Amino acid sequence: MARFPARFHDGVTAAEHAVTVTVSADGLEIAAPGVHAFWRRQDIERLSTEAGVWRFACGDARLVIDRTPEAEAALKGARILDPRREAMKSWGLIGGLLGLSAVLGFIVFVAIPMAAEPLAHATPRHVEEQLGENIAKQVNVVMRPCENTEAADAAIAPMLEALIAADDPGFPITLQFVSQKSPNALALAGGQVMVTSGLLDTLESPDELAAVIAHELGHVKARDGMVALYRNAGLGILLELITGGSGLAQQAILLGGQVTELSYTRRQEARADETAVAMLRGAGLDPAALARAFERLKAFSDFEAREETKGRPSALEQFRVPEWLKSHPDLEGRITRARAQGATATAEALSDADWAIVKAACSST
Ligand SMILES: [Zn+2]
Repeated sequence: MARFPARFHDGVTAAEHAVTVTVSADGLEIAAPGVHAFWRRQDIERLSTEAGVWRFACGDARLVIDRTPEAEAALKGARILDPRREAMKSWGLIGGLLGLSAVLGFIVFVAIPMAAEPLAHATPRHVEEQLGENIAKQVNVVMRPCENTEAADAAIAPMLEALIAADDPGFPITLQFVSQKSPNALALAGGQVMVTSGLLDTLESPDELAAVIAHELGHVKARDGMVALYRNAGLGILLELITGGSGLAQQAILLGGQVTELSYTRRQEARADETAVAMLRGAGLDPAALARAFERLKAFSDFEAREETKGRPSALEQFRVPEWLKSHPDLEGRITRARAQGATATAEALSDADWAIVKAACSST
């Protein structure tokens, strides 16, 4: 029977005893002057693996054995150290961790983006509406709402209603005029639509504005804002937005444009264009106005690009090139397709008087 020295704590007193351990098929006999214990094999628990020693427990008692080849052979012989079980233990742990991170990685980077559309469509509409309101508040930190827009809101309402009547986007629409020099329009989740002061300055006819708004309503109808949230924003941000928090969510929105127009795919843009064409047609407006609106925005974007290459700092302090143009290079194709839809308008998007009021929506800001 193998014997080797070890250090023993009886679990009652703090003293450490230098003991001799005798290994048998039944377990470990621990002995020293004034100390005697027998640990049955099935009661022995291996505590930790550390350099140089094994630590075992039996009830409250502890045993520290120096790792020597002799001790290892004896402990394995008595199956107190099980070579296979030891290997399984550490590999099992590593495997478990790898497995867990693989699953989480799959969920975050593959499953959620892939499932973004089904998830968006499975999201209750009232949840999306609440999310949209929270996101709009965050966006309003950089895009301040224009003040005193009551007259403009009233002037644009019939046109908005005509578009909605032509093809219901499925959410109550909140149209907000916001103060930003860059010509832009945004569709956030849950029917929140924003039109910048720069867009009002850039567009030259009300049917162009109707076309841009119809395009945004197309995003609302397809729930693209919600899809973008699932695809890009991540679960943490999503949860924070549901609970109305700021912090992370605000940063993601302001820096990454994660939940606005910027993150829409080419396919989503094409679909929003299609919806816009149908809405404009249904409202008796000319779908080719979409092409004219795009052309004006493109001209603005080209002008900005030229100014920048001349090394002249842009007059616009923020978001110089409209992000939705920068991120959607297929604008020429969209213009061509929208123009091909051209038809004679049977209705007027806005009267001259109402167009003037809408154009001036942000003038008091
Ligand atoms: Zn779009």
